[in-house]
Amino acid sequence: MSIVDRSQKMQVASLVGLSQVVVDYDTIPDVLPNEVLVKVEAVGICGSDIHYYQHGHIGARKVQYPHIQGHEFAGTVVEVGEQVTNFAVGDRVTVEPGVPCRMCEKCRSGKYNLCDQVVFLSTPPHKGALRQYISHPEDFVFPIPDELTFEEATLAEPLSVAIHALKRANLRPGMRILITGMGPVGLMCVCAASFYNASEIVVTDMVKHKLQVATELGATSTIEIPLETIPEDYFDIVIETSGARPALQSGIRALEKGGKLVSIGFPKDAEVPIDLTMMLQRELDLITVYRYANTFPLAISILKELKEVVGTVITSTFELEHIDEAMKKATETHLDSIKVIVYPNKSGKKQNTE
Ligand SMILES: [Zn+2]
Ligand SMILES: [Zn+2]
Repeated sequence: MSIVDRSQKMQVASLVGLSQVVVDYDTIPDVLPNEVLVKVEAVGICGSDIHYYQHGHIGARKVQYPHIQGHEFAGTVVEVGEQVTNFAVGDRVTVEPGVPCRMCEKCRSGKYNLCDQVVFLSTPPHKGALRQYISHPEDFVFPIPDELTFEEATLAEPLSVAIHALKRANLRPGMRILITGMGPVGLMCVCAASFYNASEIVVTDMVKHKLQVATELGATSTIEIPLETIPEDYFDIVIETSGARPALQSGIRALEKGGKLVSIGFPKDAEVPIDLTMMLQRELDLITVYRYANTFPLAISILKELKEVVGTVITSTFELEHIDEAMKKATETHLDSIKVIVYPNKSGKKQNTE
């Protein structure tokens, strides 16, 4: 069953060059038997989207123009393939953007984020969700509760990164955690750490507003960099989300003996010096995090629990036709911009009028 008019074309946000994005048209995708067609209601702009937009690549992964960005999104099911059993037209859903092969050794051991065959929406060469409709296999689609808005539900993706990080670090109730960098992923780490009952959640950033948002989400104290200093030899876990060199180094010093440094933020340069001697003498663990696996249901329930406050992360919203403005706004992370949301299926209504 379908409620989609395929004689119409859909709008897509097409990345056509460095920092150049335009609205284009494409055919509405068909669904395979195991897929649902989602009408995309809200898309969050991710740090990786911003990086591809500005630089055209992340490491060896290069954008092939025209490209479609966006992998943090939620919407409504408007068509289901003939084998789909879990969804019906009208269901409100969010989508896990990385679909692995489900058959290799990594997939079968549950580490499907490391599958070589993964198709991850918006990671070149795969196109993303900044468009009106997208088809996706039903086992990577998740229902969202009525309490959550589409905008809030898009946060299940960055929150998944945070959950995966805390699982890798084995955070247990009562632990002291430092989270450096209050971008969206850092803020989602605050949400996850408070859900896991860390006793102290200390956060750092250079932007006061972001520290305020972190406090609303559950941070117990804040450190404004570079005015205030980070305590040394104190934390059980440090989560580094900024990718900034000094943050990694001060993170190592902030850990107490036997602590764990979790690195999420990609550094500007691939090679980063670390004080290995200090790490050895204090038996520190270095843990890296790449995407996530099996996190979406938990992410959705944490969002539901934090429903009263989690919306503070969303700092601006734009319709798809203003995608150029939206991407520019998303790059202003040194200012107050945290999470920018784009609406592919709203138009004519001004979202950002004062
Ligand atoms: Zn993301
Ligand atoms: Zn696989």
